[in-house]
Amino acid sequence: MALLDELLKGNEQYVSHGWSPSDRGLDAPPAKRLAVVACMDTRHNVERVLGLEHGDAKVIRNAGNVVDDGTLRSLIVAVHLLGVRSICVMGHTKCGMTQVGRGEYRIARSIAQRTGVSLHEVMRPDFQRWLGGFTDPEQHVRDSMDLVRKHPYMPPDLEVVGLLYDNDTGRVRPVA
Ligand SMILES: [Zn+2]
Repeated sequence: MALLDELLKGNEQYVSHGWSPSDRGLDAPPAKRLAVVACMDTRHNVERVLGLEHGDAKVIRNAGNVVDDGTLRSLIVAVHLLGVRSICVMGHTKCGMTQVGRGEYRIARSIAQRTGVSLHEVMRPDFQRWLGGFTDPEQHVRDSMDLVRKHPYMPPDLEVVGLLYDNDTGRVRPVA
């Protein structure tokens, strides 16, 4: 089945079995006044891992739970417009982004081969930093928490916590 047909069919199921008119009534501010920054890794579902219900938290996901400009933009909107008072950065073990340092050339070569952009142009000096790879997922959570805490637009009373999800057990533990 073509992708679009599959997605539309999935939506039909959702409208008839999953969607509830009460979803319209969910306030824009998340019920727990919480935003979670997590990896896009498909092996874990952030809400289920943390016992959250739909509507409890703003969940921002990207490759490697990176606090970059895009993440900060969402967090700033969440904090200053949508009533978020706490932010949780959740990293995980066995994150694919720990391979990016070694895989940098492979990614660059694939981009060059599949798009026609020259390898030289792709491998610009800040390419690896831009990809956002890291080696230690726990330290990466710590660094990401620091980026949020120290951002000049974040209020001093904002609560920032960190967690590391263990891919082998499903447990999270605090990162201080
Ligand atoms: Zn990951």
